[in-house]
Amino acid sequence: MDVTLSDRLQKLPPYLFADLRRKMAAAREKGVKVIRIDIGDPDTPAPNPIVRELIRAIDDRNDPARHRYGCDVPAAEYPEAIKKFYKRRWGVTLQNENIVTTMGSKDAIAKLPMAIMNPGDIGIAPQPGYPTYNIGHVFAGGSTHYVPLRKENGFLMDFDEIPADVRRAAKLLWINYPNNPTTATATKEFFARAVEFGRANNILIAHDMAYSENVYDGYQSPSILQVDGAEDVAVEFYSLSKAFSMTGWRAGCMCGNPSAVKALLTVKENIDNGTLRAVQFAAAKALDLAEEVIPPVNEIYRRRRDLVVEALNAAGWNLEKPKATIYIWAPVPEKYNSAESPSGAFVADLLEKTGVMVTPGRGYGPAGEGFFRVSLTYPDDVLKEAMARIIDMKE
Ligand SMILES: *Cc1c(COP(=O)(O)O)cnc(C)c1O
Repeated sequence: MDVTLSDRLQKLPPYLFADLRRKMAAAREKGVKVIRIDIGDPDTPAPNPIVRELIRAIDDRNDPARHRYGCDVPAAEYPEAIKKFYKRRWGVTLQNENIVTTMGSKDAIAKLPMAIMNPGDIGIAPQPGYPTYNIGHVFAGGSTHYVPLRKENGFLMDFDEIPADVRRAAKLLWINYPNNPTTATATKEFFARAVEFGRANNILIAHDMAYSENVYDGYQSPSILQVDGAEDVAVEFYSLSKAFSMTGWRAGCMCGNPSAVKALLTVKENIDNGTLRAVQFAAAKALDLAEEVIPPVNEIYRRRRDLVVEALNAAGWNLEKPKATIYIWAPVPEKYNSAESPSGAFVADLLEKTGVMVTPGRGYGPAGEGFFRVSLTYPDDVLKEAMARIIDMKE
């Protein structure tokens, strides 16, 4: 028998990338060498001291708890390291009641709505944006009101665009800076506006800062918890994935409003039982060593960023170098921006003619139309070859 899919599964947006995967297979069959520069998953290994700590902790015969459920035997070192990190990095003081450790942040982003939304409820999310915000709402029986991020606003969410009925009904609002996919960054003043909006409308502000450590040219990414009174209306999702090249390890945390922290913890205790204890020790070590281990990796991304932006600009694009994230967000060439030749056709054409696979902007919702995303998590020579092919096609 085939199972009947639940309404919530059927409500998920169609998986755009299934079509592109078919096209990739077709290109390979025709003998085209496909080069992928689309996925944001660090190619550099987790720094050695973090790996050593994982091995030490999993093999520590003096720690009988090391193989047990992570949430039942939490490593106190992990929340302590989070507190010290927030203090050093942003001058923010956290208590235990402000912190829940998570299995990466996608885990928690998808589960928070389950803790605070009822069927029929609304969550607000940016578009273009990370698809998991909507998926969390849908899995909780709710739906999403999208707010477009516009280039002319520096891809910052404009809270004035949110209608009164949505403000009344919404339970939470997602923001994400440094932003995936647009690479935009936010100031503390923007976060202050977000906090004010949350307070005025009784909406929990959920800030996803998966890219807070992927920063260049001296830029420092602020935390929403630096805003006075933020912990009253906001939570922040920190992830070790992109910062420390630890995507597969599943380590992160949600910090801020104590009642939201407790609510998420309750969902997690009932579903996932937490992260392996050894990963918790390793995550604590990573945060303790952040200032030492992150800059050399960021130097690699900075070099690749320069390589990609300079190549595209030499070919007629007019891009600024992003201050943060591991992506380049670029408009498709002019001739693809019409009804006969929609921007998605650029990505398909590029793949078919050159074998280069970038991410189509509309993968992040219709408001992403007209753009494509390049990921910097590929070796320099791969990015160079891909740029050469893109430029060939454009000419
Ligand atoms: C990668 C990413 C995440 C989460 O990754 P985890 O590995 O689950 O921590 C969250 N938000 C955005 C915008 C991302 O790009």
